[in-house]
Amino acid sequence: MDIEKPQLIEQLNNHNLRPTEARRLVLALLMENNDHPNTDQIIRSLYDKGFKVSIATLYQNLEKLVEVGLLIRIKGPDGVMRFDANIQPHHHLICDICGKMTDIKINGDTLPTHHPIDFQTGLPVEGWDIDHIKIEYKGTCSNCKK
Ligand SMILES: [Zn+2]
Ligand SMILES: [Zn+2]
Repeated sequence: MDIEKPQLIEQLNNHNLRPTEARRLVLALLMENNDHPNTDQIIRSLYDKGFKVSIATLYQNLEKLVEVGLLIRIKGPDGVMRFDANIQPHHHLICDICGKMTDIKINGDTLPTHHPIDFQTGLPVEGWDIDHIKIEYKGTCSNCKK
């Protein structure tokens, strides 16, 4: 894992964040393998790679990275918050058994162009600006099927 990557430092600078070691560590880890980890998993992965970050420091920096838009916070199927370094609009494929989360491309032509229909009235919803749609594909991953 290369935390001296100019691209990493540039990204943080572009978002007016000082490229501290903790921030570079988190971003480098997630860029290398964006498996949507939770805080515990991030701490463990960093520890396995020989880096020690305190929980308080990690929490603080994850907050900051989410705030400036370099990370997205998402709730996993177990209700625990996870972090996603893919900040492009995308959907998720989620395993019900192990919680594995995979990024799914949004296929432009599958997005409904009509207004969403209100469940109660059966009429198109009026007065809203819809800016994105989130779809969760759920099931059993190939590993858990074995
Ligand atoms: Zn699974
Ligand atoms: Zn994702």
